[in-house]
Amino acid sequence: MSTFTVKAYGAESITADLKEMNIERREVTSKDVEIEILYCGVCHSDLHTARNDWGGTIYPAVPGHEIIGRITKVGNEVAKFKVGDLAGVGCIVDSCGHCESCQHDLEQYCLNGFTGTYNGHDRHSGGHTFGGYSQKVVVDSHHVLKVPENLDPAAVAPLLCAGITTWSPLRHWKVGPNSKVAVVGLGGLGHMAIKLAKGLGAEVTLFSRTPGKTEDAKQLGADHVIISTDEEQMKSVKGKFDVIIDTVPYIHDVNPYVTTLNISGTHVLVGYLGGLEPILNTVPLILGRKSVAGSVIGGIAETQELLDFCGEHNIVSEIEMIKMEEINEAYERMLKSDVRYRFVIDMQTL
Ligand code: NAP
Ligand code: ZN
Repeated sequence: MSTFTVKAYGAESITADLKEMNIERREVTSKDVEIEILYCGVCHSDLHTARNDWGGTIYPAVPGHEIIGRITKVGNEVAKFKVGDLAGVGCIVDSCGHCESCQHDLEQYCLNGFTGTYNGHDRHSGGHTFGGYSQKVVVDSHHVLKVPENLDPAAVAPLLCAGITTWSPLRHWKVGPNSKVAVVGLGGLGHMAIKLAKGLGAEVTLFSRTPGKTEDAKQLGADHVIISTDEEQMKSVKGKFDVIIDTVPYIHDVNPYVTTLNISGTHVLVGYLGGLEPILNTVPLILGRKSVAGSVIGGIAETQELLDFCGEHNIVSEIEMIKMEEINEAYERMLKSDVRYRFVIDMQTL
């Protein structure tokens, strides 16, 4: 496999700050496109991976899975794109293509394991994949998205993870004009969940620990804000919601939110990965036919559906643009929930 060298920004170890490094990209094969990266969003998963919060990080780790760029080369079998097109790459750069999930446009549940944009098993090189904190990326064109030209490309980047991760459960649980939706946590995923649920016509409530975010939440489209640490406020929404999208990244008590579900309602965890504590009480689940569920990103076709929907409804992320060298500081701010509401790296600064 012939390769070329590009500049990237990554972590050499669990304790190291991210810094400039060189990585290898493969030359385009017949099915690939090469993309010059213009913008890359900063997801909390980038931080979890750089610091090995989930175990399994392979170093050097180059994060970034909210990639927007211009196509600079196309393989000879690629019909979908041409040089100069604006394109997006999200969390998936490869999948087996033939299992039952892949056959049903559910690459995120590929039975043979999808290839994550970073820290994934690279089906071409045999090594691990490197993400979008880099100058260029080469991706199988099936996993590359068309980006609506009417939107600000920097603010589109977060749709590729924060957007699709919240869109997919909203669609799966059939959110529409008669739905009452709640979102837990106002960060990157949370602010997209509000905008998208609102875009689908739902009545939207935010649960937040941070009173200072109330005004922002309303501007983003939330009809109501509940401060989750205030018991009286929590009681006021007992039995209300059809769907809750829970974006909290760390262990937290899910039981108080289950109480706020309507009969047959579903609490969808998209943030925290791991065992729950305190233990989940099954009584309200059984007596109210309620569900606690999970969901991971979304398939390629569904991501295209989201981008097209956002193009039609003029929906983008609220972003703070940063330089590449500011990434370590951005991670520290993300840990303090001090992001309004997604950092996006201007990749020209690498
Ligand atoms: P983020 O921007 O840091 O936002 C998380 C929000 O959760 C914070 O703004 C804060 O909101 C709230 N929060 C943070 N720590 C909390 C705690 N200890 N207890 C309660 N609330 C807390 O993160 P993000 O990029 O949106 O990502 C959220 C999580 O989703 C991460 O764990 C990420 O890895 C995961 N993720 C999952 C998928 C998937 O496919 N399932 C995809 C992408 C990301 P308030 O200030 O409003 O309380
Ligand atoms: Zn992400």
